[in-house]
Amino acid sequence: MTDRNDILFERARAVIPGGVNSPVRAFKAVGGTPRFIQRAQGAYFWDANDKRYIDYIGSWGPMILGHGHPAVVEAVQKAVLEGFSYGAPTEREIELAEAILALVPSMEMVRLVSSGTEAAMSALRLARGATGRKSIVKFEGCYHGHADALLVKAGSGLATFGNPTSAGVPPEVVQHTIVLEYNNLQQLEEAFALHGKDIACLMIEAIAGNMNFVRATPEFARRCRELCTQHGALLVFDEVMTGFRVGLHGAQGVLGIKPDLTVLGKVIGGGMPLAAFGGPRAIMEQLAPLGPVYQAGTLSGNPVATACGLATLKEIAKPGFYEALGKKTRSLVDGLKAAAAAEGQPFNADSEGGMFGFFLMKDLPQNYATVMTTDNAKFNALFHGLLDRGVYIAPALYEAGFVSAAHSDEDIAATIEAARQIFRTP
Ligand SMILES: *Cc1c(COP(=O)(O)O)cnc(C)c1O
Repeated sequence: MTDRNDILFERARAVIPGGVNSPVRAFKAVGGTPRFIQRAQGAYFWDANDKRYIDYIGSWGPMILGHGHPAVVEAVQKAVLEGFSYGAPTEREIELAEAILALVPSMEMVRLVSSGTEAAMSALRLARGATGRKSIVKFEGCYHGHADALLVKAGSGLATFGNPTSAGVPPEVVQHTIVLEYNNLQQLEEAFALHGKDIACLMIEAIAGNMNFVRATPEFARRCRELCTQHGALLVFDEVMTGFRVGLHGAQGVLGIKPDLTVLGKVIGGGMPLAAFGGPRAIMEQLAPLGPVYQAGTLSGNPVATACGLATLKEIAKPGFYEALGKKTRSLVDGLKAAAAAEGQPFNADSEGGMFGFFLMKDLPQNYATVMTTDNAKFNALFHGLLDRGVYIAPALYEAGFVSAAHSDEDIAATIEAARQIFRTP
């Protein structure tokens, strides 16, 4: 049988670098041919061979309602007929802003943009503009999009300035980025003791989803808040992934911590290109056209994307939504743990709301270095085993997973059974 995924991958590689428009889609970490998706509905998508998969990436987070939710489809179809983009303000932007602010109490004002990268980059500029400081703190394993100053890994030694993780980023551009180990209190204290008066902001995924799934400990998160306040730095929660995903009020709601700035994306667009950043009025009014911090976007607040986001937010704000989603996700995680235990495999897993992570190790990791000790070959065998059985998880061991409201108990049970078969294979 001819595999249409192979044919499409070959065609794609001729015209698109690596055949993909975002690197992790290429299956480079796990090997094999990426699946080219032709359509999706509910908890499933179908590849170019018309093979069905239970989808646990949900476009890397946005599809919290599952694919093709009728209320969202209707809102988008209606919006499309009214025009794709105007480059002038609309009432729907106000509605979405109001909806976001009502759900994220730490934000008094919000600006809409088109991608998480853009939102994080803009929040960073705003933090520097508002404080008049240069340095920023980030953590190894946290991803904040691909702006130059944020593509940094730890340098040698504690609390030092980092090194670029990409070619094309001059060292000078990251010389103000301090990279610390996640959940390492001592490094955190040291960085603020050394550089506190120069730090514009500390940016963190308070529940990290880009080194698989790793929580900041409550103590660590609290100390981030205290040190920022004490040193006049802004605490920025990058909730592009966790916002409206781990709960209706994001990671800040789960942890009970109020950041100064919040970065949102993924779920707020419901699958359309939309992201946002926001915070207190006094800081947000530093932005152009009111203030000196420049930021703009041709498609920002796009009328079709805002319709999609609004319809999505309306569904997830319904009573009981996150209780049901959290329960379903926990049943997946608990089932996987039980299956691994029954087959004597070292395994652990965690979840919050509709986001989960699992690890081929006994204890839950606390930082990036530990996540990366995962047995690659074992993960790849699990990934391909699941893929063969029609279960699509993230094609890299350092990515989180996502359950949607459309996943049924049968989907969860089928997933656990598939994993059990693979765990059983010597
Ligand atoms: C996905 C993600 C981003 C980047 O968002 P894009 O829309 O891909 O640019 C930034 N921060 C976090 C935490 C993310 O998960």
